[in-house]
Amino acid sequence: MPTPCHRLDRGRDEAATIGAASASHTAGACAREAAREVQLARGGSSLGKKLLVAPGSKVRLDRIDPDDTHGFEKAKSDPIVAADLARLRDLQERIWAENKHRLLIVLQGIDTAGKGGTIEHVMGAFNPQGCRVHAFKVPTADELAHDYLWRVHPHVPGRGEISIFDRSHYEQVLVVRVMGLEPKSRWRQHYDEINAFEQLLADDGTTILKFFLLIDRDEQRERLQARIDDPRKRWKFRMGDLDTRKHWDDYLAAFEDALSKCSTDAAPWYVVPANHKWFRNLAVARIVADTLEDLDPQIPPPVEPIPPGLEVE
Ligand code: ATP
Repeated sequence: MPTPCHRLDRGRDEAATIGAASASHTAGACAREAAREVQLARGGSSLGKKLLVAPGSKVRLDRIDPDDTHGFEKAKSDPIVAADLARLRDLQERIWAENKHRLLIVLQGIDTAGKGGTIEHVMGAFNPQGCRVHAFKVPTADELAHDYLWRVHPHVPGRGEISIFDRSHYEQVLVVRVMGLEPKSRWRQHYDEINAFEQLLADDGTTILKFFLLIDRDEQRERLQARIDDPRKRWKFRMGDLDTRKHWDDYLAAFEDALSKCSTDAAPWYVVPANHKWFRNLAVARIVADTLEDLDPQIPPPVEPIPPGLEVE
């Protein structure tokens, strides 16, 4: 049946022009309508609930299948993702225009889990104006001379902004713990400190979403091998990645603790099965879009009255 705005096709077009100018208000309304249609067709969206780490629960990563696609099929996923990306584009425009809400998205995962791919394919829907990505690398000497949150705080979102963390303050209970960069007596304190920090951000009006991208060892082996074999991917490979891989079990244990101790109402963790990149993108896009929709951001009224019929000469 033809639709007034060719809803799903338009969504797909928008997804293909990631990073282009924002969709108009009318197109945004169409995008939301399209997303609702897709949701209704699927019997509603409960994906976020399925992937959420319930606050207070103990995560066992060996009981979560990194291949799981929760009933979604790759062959049917394109219009679903396209509709959610169109929602994201529209909602971010509203967030930016309204200048009220702030959103922090944290991405964590073992090497090659797909943090960069998620940023490219999902966050690429956002207009770069009002969206910041920060990658947390090995701390500089200056950063090491301060407490570990010192380098994090300047990158949290201001009003109207979305900040995306590629790695984050959680490295302080991941690499720091696994590689013994601090004594246990110190890193074990970080869980409470991180919860307090995130609670502070939330109390001040920041919405926080944290995604752990779960792949398995075989998938990582294939992705690392591809980085070695493919000349276009070699720049991403470091010999150190192989050392990190040797600590796989220690990293998973550290991730389990971080997820279990730091999934809170103020800053929930989601475990996203990420062996299938298309499902990873679908899940993250869906959860971010649903969260932004719950904030119900509104295009603000004109800042001053506009006389009816005003024409620009
Ligand atoms: P990949 O794409 O393989 O996941 P990457 O693109 O995230 O890697 P890299 O520059 O290769 O980026 O890795 C960043 C490195 O910085 C990681 O090895 C990470 O463990 C390290 N790092 C981040 N934060 C800290 C910290 N607080 N202390 C020590 N090392 C840290």
